[in-house]
Amino acid sequence: MRTQRQVVDYSLQKRALLRDVHNGKIGTLEVCDASPYLKNAARFHGEPTDERCPICRRDNLTLVHYIYGDELKQSAGQARKLAELPVLAMTLREFQVFVVEVCQSCAWNHLIEQYLLGRDALTADELDKGAAAVAASASGRHRETGSSSHRREGRQ
Ligand SMILES: [Zn+2]
Repeated sequence: MRTQRQVVDYSLQKRALLRDVHNGKIGTLEVCDASPYLKNAARFHGEPTDERCPICRRDNLTLVHYIYGDELKQSAGQARKLAELPVLAMTLREFQVFVVEVCQSCAWNHLIEQYLLGRDALTADELDKGAAAVAASASGRHRETGSSSHRREGRQ
């Protein structure tokens, strides 16, 4: 997503944890502890992946996107489908997304990434750079935020 910013990647932590599991330092029960809520979120709002579960290898991982932010009010902390995020990003100023991978077989789960989305993602600085970038990059216009790019372009 074009407006994704302040991305924090947790793959190093995940790798370190998996190493400890494979070394036997940490039991699989400790890391395969997805709550019923998380498993439900994976079933109903999850994004399927082609990646095998690193623990049981029986099932592919599912990504769950949790959203947080004051503007979300009672929706804060809910899981959303990936396809809903661009719509929210156009209507809200800023919200935080936490991406958790879940195995629906063994209940392995790990935070893999977090980032900010929202209209505020386009800061004054980015809008400055954007003026040139939008004009230069045709690919940006094909994204779901394309209509707003056109409007910005119109004001130049
Ligand atoms: Zn598994």
